[in-house]
Amino acid sequence: MRCDTCKQEGPMVMRVMIAKDYNRSLARPIFNCPECFAQKERSKQRAGASGSETPQPNAT
Ligand SMILES: [Zn+2]
Repeated sequence: MRCDTCKQEGPMVMRVMIAKDYNRSLARPIFNCPECFAQKERSKQRAGASGSETPQPNAT
């Protein structure tokens, strides 16, 4: 399997669903190695919990 982000062959990749708040036409599953997957998760959290039904107000 190949990572769609870093384009490297890896023994293990994870299927990542593009978040629903992205452009619909771009919505498609992609494959990420654990490293890129973790990076995406981090950037997702920074962008604001998109998977959460009830966003928590952040006091920071
Ligand atoms: Zn990767």
